[in-house]
Amino acid sequence: MIGVLRSAAMAASAACALLVPAMAPAGSAAVAVPHPGRAAAMDVRGEGDGDGTLITRLHTPPTGTSIASPARDTLYACRGGTLARPDRPWIDAHGVIDVLKRPFVSGTMHWPKVLRVTRTATTRHFEGNGLPGHSTGRFPVQKGTPAYKYYAEIPSPGYPNAAAIPIKPWHLDVTVPRNPIVQATPTCISQLTTGMALAGGTFHLEVATDAEDRPVDPNAALPLDRCWGHPYETQYHYHGPSQTCFGKTASRASANGGRSGHSPLVGYAIDGFGIYGPRGEDGKIVRNKDLDVCHGHTHAIMWDGKKVVAYHYHLNGEYPYSIGCFRGTPTTVPGDANSHDWSH
Ligand SMILES: [Zn+2]
Ligand SMILES: [Zn+2]
Repeated sequence: MIGVLRSAAMAASAACALLVPAMAPAGSAAVAVPHPGRAAAMDVRGEGDGDGTLITRLHTPPTGTSIASPARDTLYACRGGTLARPDRPWIDAHGVIDVLKRPFVSGTMHWPKVLRVTRTATTRHFEGNGLPGHSTGRFPVQKGTPAYKYYAEIPSPGYPNAAAIPIKPWHLDVTVPRNPIVQATPTCISQLTTGMALAGGTFHLEVATDAEDRPVDPNAALPLDRCWGHPYETQYHYHGPSQTCFGKTASRASANGGRSGHSPLVGYAIDGFGIYGPRGEDGKIVRNKDLDVCHGHTHAIMWDGKKVVAYHYHLNGEYPYSIGCFRGTPTTVPGDANSHDWSH
């Protein structure tokens, strides 16, 4: 179903978006019944587990940063291009985003998360409805809320503007290798979906396009909800160091034991490698200089209940914040929010 309404114009647009055409809302069967207002407030910090730390300062890349080849502090998109740094009141002259100055998408909605993760000797399979097990901000973004104008200025065919995009369930059905193999050459990112969070949503490419069709860091350009998420083409996904709301659903098994150690597993990339929160082996937030060009590294972690030395990705506060390229071999995600745009 997704893709039917897509036009050739999309090929000219970059990722994540909200800036490229979204699905028309008409005719979609509403499977999920959100309950706005069921909870009065969402205590994000209270849901944090182990590394549920809210990272409040993000280092966004300067204008001119290439996304055309694998390198530290950027990502490797198959489409290539260079990033622009948007002008926003929450970004200082050094390119640091103060997350507490960036408005959150307000409101509270609850969702009936479905995510089954099963494995065979060689594969790991994810099947679900793409909805998160935690509450989200209220989408469509409501008029009169601080986040509204940033969404409302973005055109979105099928809707009055990007503020009108709701969250809807979709059929997430992805199989990755259970024990992926590190490839000598990194692979570029060709789809929006870069991984699956155990919390129920997906991780997306850390590129959006602005009103002028320039590729930008979505964390710099747009308010997200308190779980670092928002919908694109009605699929709810995360950007940045989004582990804040994963406490109740992520694995509670710390990789190297203890709350002071390595962050727990929060999801899997579409190449099969694990995605962890921001803390490294010493319990300190990992820096990009400690990671490779794909935003990962190799050391002993707990993997399917065993301690093994394995490659894995980390979330942190330095661009690209999550996956920068694939160290393994990425699979194709059927129904990816923008697969026609990024799959070539
Ligand atoms: Zn996005
Ligand atoms: Zn690590």
